[in-house]
Amino acid sequence: MEPGIDHTLRGGWALGDHALPPHALRWLRGRTGLAEHPTPVAPDSVLTVPEPELSIVGRAALEAVVGAEHLLLDRNSRLGRSGGMSYVDLLRHRGCGELAVPDAVVLPGDPDEVVAVLRACAEHDIGVIPFGGGTSVVGGVTALRGGKHAVIVLDLARLNRLVSIDPLSRLVVLQAGVRATDAERMLAAHGFTLGHFPQSFERATIGGFAATRSAGQASAGYGRFEDMVDGVRLATPVGELNLGVAPATAAGPDLKQLVIGSEGAFGVITEVTLRVRPVATHTRYEGYFLDGWDKATAAVRDLAQHRVLADVTRLSDTEETEVQLALTGGVKAGAVRAYLRARRINDPCLLILGWEAGSAGELAVRRTATLRALRPHKAVRLGKPVGESWRHGRFSGPRQRDSLLDAGVCVETLETATHWSQLSTLRTAVRGALQRSLNRAVVMCHVSHAYETGASLYFTVLAARADEDPIGQWQRAKRAASEAIAPLGTITHHHAVGTDHAPYLAGEVGALGIDVMTSVKRALDPTGVLNPGKLLPAADRG
Ligand SMILES: Cc1cc2nc3c(=O)[nH]c(=O)nc-3n(C[C@H](O)[C@H](O)[C@H](O)COP(=O)(O)OP(=O)(O)OC[C@H]3O[C@@H](n4cnc5c(N)ncnc54)[C@H](O)[C@@H]3O)c2cc1C
Repeated sequence: MEPGIDHTLRGGWALGDHALPPHALRWLRGRTGLAEHPTPVAPDSVLTVPEPELSIVGRAALEAVVGAEHLLLDRNSRLGRSGGMSYVDLLRHRGCGELAVPDAVVLPGDPDEVVAVLRACAEHDIGVIPFGGGTSVVGGVTALRGGKHAVIVLDLARLNRLVSIDPLSRLVVLQAGVRATDAERMLAAHGFTLGHFPQSFERATIGGFAATRSAGQASAGYGRFEDMVDGVRLATPVGELNLGVAPATAAGPDLKQLVIGSEGAFGVITEVTLRVRPVATHTRYEGYFLDGWDKATAAVRDLAQHRVLADVTRLSDTEETEVQLALTGGVKAGAVRAYLRARRINDPCLLILGWEAGSAGELAVRRTATLRALRPHKAVRLGKPVGESWRHGRFSGPRQRDSLLDAGVCVETLETATHWSQLSTLRTAVRGALQRSLNRAVVMCHVSHAYETGASLYFTVLAARADEDPIGQWQRAKRAASEAIAPLGTITHHHAVGTDHAPYLAGEVGALGIDVMTSVKRALDPTGVLNPGKLLPAADRG
């Protein structure tokens, strides 16, 4: 196996074990009515993988570009890139519903080969799914054919190099297939970090972040991914776009912004020039409790509007806080509850604050400013252990999801964002929609990205999985949540559009907005081979 190329089958995060403790399972059974013995799910080995349909000439054209060893037709490689990491994707890998399996996996070795692969695909009527870490949770990497005779996954795993670094300007050029973990390792050798730590950090790639307008857990400090992008190189079937010559420009509309968030529908990002920051030498993470959602969000709003947000600012609603306490279990949770009662906190909302700085002095100044703005909100301090415990477990969610699936839980997340004036209305609407759709569901919510004018809302749902039609069970709930979101906020704050949110895009940008994007797609992808069915499904006809 070539280094950097991940042949593991999907169907789970599969990076280490994260079994659910018995008390957590007992609690879930009590709350959701989960069966003691869930219906078993099928292993990957029983899945049907159709024969590849790639034409002889199409295959020869692709082999001529990348070499036969980088055109994979075997079962595991194709199955391993059949969809992303949503709950529905994972169910499909466990034998529920149908998997869309690509006809081949193509691994180009450099940006020129990517252009040549796209040209060959346009010439031979082959759909192309750009594939980074495959962590999309919105159907972004589903191998839909879009009327083409065949569809390939274009895996960027071999574009895994740091191309150049300019320490003076604090810029790095990374190839698109570099995994976030490798990017941090390569940058650390130069004393830098991107500071981009989404929960998918262990698997996702630089190109995937740019293609989806990703937001990391420390977005308040380091910015969203698009804030870090200084330049971008995009391969298309009709040539290359190479953008970003200066830190700022008045040379017309910013074409980089057309590429960022284009989800593989306009082209394949091959290189990204990114702003980097020195690695923090001093960090401090702390936990606080606030009483009640409205008061708690008012506190975070104050921090944002006084521009004193901690780099990580994450506020859980009472439901999420209670679940965290229930899962902590035992004496510890009991002691926290008693502590809260004594301080008259009736509806605890957990606030995690994390600062990252280059010196003790800088950290102290920033922390003092945050805490000064927090003072009128009467936050109860829990101290460093709670903050550090959150930091320690910040990437464990996807691992726990595998165990929850094994236990028969319907477990999924969704997210949105809106202005402060609408935030509580939106949360109530989405919670209501999910609770009406799913029997005895636990619906948790947190704010993890705050801005001066508003914030994101991130929902986690746990319910007993329906034995009959588990995919339909979730799709109905997701539709209800999306319909609740559409009039009040954005259909996605950072997960992107993919297939799942495509029906709601016109509602957000208007028919004219869709026309503008369709025109761009037609200019860059005239035969409509790029990522069929995603972002702009109606534009696939070419
Ligand atoms: C457990 C879990 C937690 C997550 N947490 C977060 C989070 O905290 N923040 C967040 O923002 N997102 C999160 N996500 C969503 C997902 O990780 C992001 O969308 C991420 O940016 C995708 O990166 P990737 O490399 O895995 O892309 P992929 O999943 O491979 O692709 C995503 C989309 O981008 C396209 N694409 C990928 N690479 C390229 C390229 N080089 N050129 C053009 N198009 C390309 C694909 O075709 C697809 O449409 C999470 C997902 C999971 C499963």
